[in-house]
Amino acid sequence: MPTPQQIGFVGLGKMGFPMAGRLAAAGFALQVYDLDRRVKEQFMAEHKAVGCESPAEVARRSELIITMLPDSKAVQAVVLGSGEKVGMASSMAPGSILVDMSSSSPLATRELGKWLTSRGVQLMDAPVSGGVSKARDGTLAIMAGGSPEVLERCRPVFAAMGERIFFSGPLGSGHAVKALNNMLSAAGFIAAAEVLLVGRRFGVDPKVMNDILNASTGRNNSTENKIEKYVLSRSFSSGFSLDLMLKDLNTAVDLSRELEVPTPFCNACRELWAAAQSSLGRGLDHTDVARWFEQLAHVRLGEQE
Ligand code: NAD
Repeated sequence: MPTPQQIGFVGLGKMGFPMAGRLAAAGFALQVYDLDRRVKEQFMAEHKAVGCESPAEVARRSELIITMLPDSKAVQAVVLGSGEKVGMASSMAPGSILVDMSSSSPLATRELGKWLTSRGVQLMDAPVSGGVSKARDGTLAIMAGGSPEVLERCRPVFAAMGERIFFSGPLGSGHAVKALNNMLSAAGFIAAAEVLLVGRRFGVDPKVMNDILNASTGRNNSTENKIEKYVLSRSFSSGFSLDLMLKDLNTAVDLSRELEVPTPFCNACRELWAAAQSSLGRGLDHTDVARWFEQLAHVRLGEQE
């Protein structure tokens, strides 16, 4: 089966905007939609794309639709409809493909897959890792769950957005791996913040200590790519929100509970991120969580606020 050329893209946020931009640059025919009209218009001003008035219009015009939305709730609203709004499902032709690249709930994805399969539509979950900079460069990691045949049809589309494309297993497995990855990443971030604060109280410059960690066995993605760039600089501007990170941690903990795998460490990690969000407020960058640990310790890692 050939690769679909008419691509629908729903969700032009921090990640969706540059990802859809890569597809436009690769020459795919794009039809786009976002709840926020301004980002849709901005996208059309910068790229060749048809702007649609609703998700249902995207579905009517596309063979393959990609969703890049905050969570499963938003994906369900767009696919199945909500309130007065008609969803995409009513307009999707049998044989079409829906790829959810959002970091959604694997359990909700499985349910949605059953429903769509009964209507002849194939669902694949293909969440991404790498953040806004890799979305811009087209070098994301993509973890795809579902049918291997559907992945092969989607591969040229994924290749425009990602550098490493993995088949993770059955439907929902990409979403499971993504949530579990973010749990590990979140744990690494707050562990780094705590040890740097202890070092600072002892009198070690956090930049010097972070450099030492990065040459030592304690290094992780946060010490290598986040601490200096976003925390010590006080920019807190990674582009991945604290609210979305907490959503992913809830997904990971819900999954472990559903599968009856005890995860006391992950549960504690989730609790700490939830407490930080509740204290700091909504709408912040996930790297702002370091400020909550600073408040607990009465020590600062950087100079200016
Ligand atoms: P975002 O909040 O910047 O973008 C979400 C977009 O979806 C917004 O433009 C919003 O208007 C739109 N939207 C919300 N509900 C909608 C609806 N019902 N219909 C149409 N449009 C709707 O989020 P983001 O940072 O781009 O993240 C998107 C997904 O990717 C999330 O699941 C997130 O967890 C995941 N993710 C984010 C990053 C990152 O670094 N930001 C990295 C990897 C994965």
